[in-house]
Amino acid sequence: MNTKNIGIYIHIPFCKQKCNYCDFCSYAGKESLSARYTKSVCEEIKFVTKNFNTLNRTKEIVQNVKTIYIGGGTPSLIDSKYIEQILNEIKLNYQVDENAEITIEVNPGTVTLEKLEHYKQMGINRLSIGLQVIKPDLLKMLGRIHTYYDFLDTYRFARNVGFENINVDLMIGLPNQTLLDVNDALEEIISLEPQHISVYSLILEEGTNLEKQVKEKNLELPSEEEERAMYWQVKKMLEENGYKHYEISNFAKMENFTRDEHKESSNLNLKYASKHNLDCWNQEEYIGFGSAAHSYINMVRYSNIEDVEKYIENIENRMIEKNYIIQEKQNMEEKQKEYMLLGLRKIDGVSIQEFKNKFVANPVFLYHEQLEKLVNEELIEVDGDVIKLTDKGLDFANIVWEEFV
Ligand code: SF4
Repeated sequence: MNTKNIGIYIHIPFCKQKCNYCDFCSYAGKESLSARYTKSVCEEIKFVTKNFNTLNRTKEIVQNVKTIYIGGGTPSLIDSKYIEQILNEIKLNYQVDENAEITIEVNPGTVTLEKLEHYKQMGINRLSIGLQVIKPDLLKMLGRIHTYYDFLDTYRFARNVGFENINVDLMIGLPNQTLLDVNDALEEIISLEPQHISVYSLILEEGTNLEKQVKEKNLELPSEEEERAMYWQVKKMLEENGYKHYEISNFAKMENFTRDEHKESSNLNLKYASKHNLDCWNQEEYIGFGSAAHSYINMVRYSNIEDVEKYIENIENRMIEKNYIIQEKQNMEEKQKEYMLLGLRKIDGVSIQEFKNKFVANPVFLYHEQLEKLVNEELIEVDGDVIKLTDKGLDFANIVWEEFV
């Protein structure tokens, strides 16, 4: 019997309040649907398991789950018993690896010590805490429901109940945010020693409150130079403090780091890089459950419908197939290009040998034209076995990706 490694993503689309910058599929004031939603997600897990071998055009495959990521929305908003029910359903239907990374996103202001204890008991071993910024007026401008002190409580509770792998999400490039604000936030967070820090530059999404305010000139974005200065400041401070920059927006704490070692940092242990995200950037397969969840199986990318009520109704009325939307059926050329595009997000880039092993083709020949152009523009470098972004490429990564779309 064949074994196939997969990741699982669970989408919990409920939030206490919609943040001003958010265009994710999440709803405020619909938590009363939690029980029906959980039941529907469990039904979907059973359905997909039954049909998995059909999707893979094979007879029998044991699906070995390497990572489970519970994201949203705000998964920590709903009663933890629902999270447990979903995890139990996964365990009933899949072989979950004994070392599987199981992450849940939590937002300060929606978690208690008891909830975190319950997460720990059910086998969740990684927390991702959405802090974003620490200054009260910036938190307010973003429409976050919490204060920095709420975050500190959440962080302390998490450590008290024994979470040893914690990510903190931060944002840069915000209206009214200064380089000093970014420094202060980083100093605070570094002093707490989380195992992982993600730092995202604001993307002004169409139709959000923030976009409206910027359009109406009530708020002003920092200039591109200012935003880039924040990015490079983040990179410098985190690297000096033992965090390996392993993807454009992601930093993982290196084990046994001392300040003297930071120049040879790539040799240090990267135990805390997010396995779930790395699998996505390495083009591994995953299945998403819940409204708006995405999946990638057997060269097909599909998503579930976003409307949470419709998602539930379709499952309750035994019309589950109506929830699926095929986004892309890849041919080999598309799959290879996407592998490059995703792989170049990683700071260590794409290994030429790994590409050859996977596709029996040499990316240097396959993408000769694109690579030559990007090397001439100093956006990427080909260094031995590796194709990766240069420092300039980090600032203009979009131009690089366009070559592989
Ligand atoms: S908590 Fe996250 S998902 Fe919910 S509205 Fe805010 S940014 Fe969006």
